[in-house]
Amino acid sequence: MIPIVAKYLIPKGFSGLTIYPFVFVNKKGLLNNKVLINHEHIHIKQQLELLILPFFIWYGLEYIYRLIQYRNAKKAYRNISFEREAYANERNFNYVKTRKIFMFLKYT
Ligand SMILES: [Zn+2]
Repeated sequence: MIPIVAKYLIPKGFSGLTIYPFVFVNKKGLLNNKVLINHEHIHIKQQLELLILPFFIWYGLEYIYRLIQYRNAKKAYRNISFEREAYANERNFNYVKTRKIFMFLKYT
């Protein structure tokens, strides 16, 4: 995981963005935010097990599906399986170490 502070790369309303092996945050102080870094670390694991590119295709397609389902952008984002897994476990600092492969499927 390579952290980078990049103010203009992060979409509005978000603080972090992960594209393996980089974790982009929009403020330097966020690098000390253990919960955010743990959240992004979970995305690193998800991206690796899907060999990176398929992760983003799945993420995009599931976002469209959730958008149709919820008709609300924020709700759609929060209900993408990858985000459900990351939000559910971002405060568990042992999660990344003990997580089994393809655990996001439990959150579909
Ligand atoms: Zn996330």
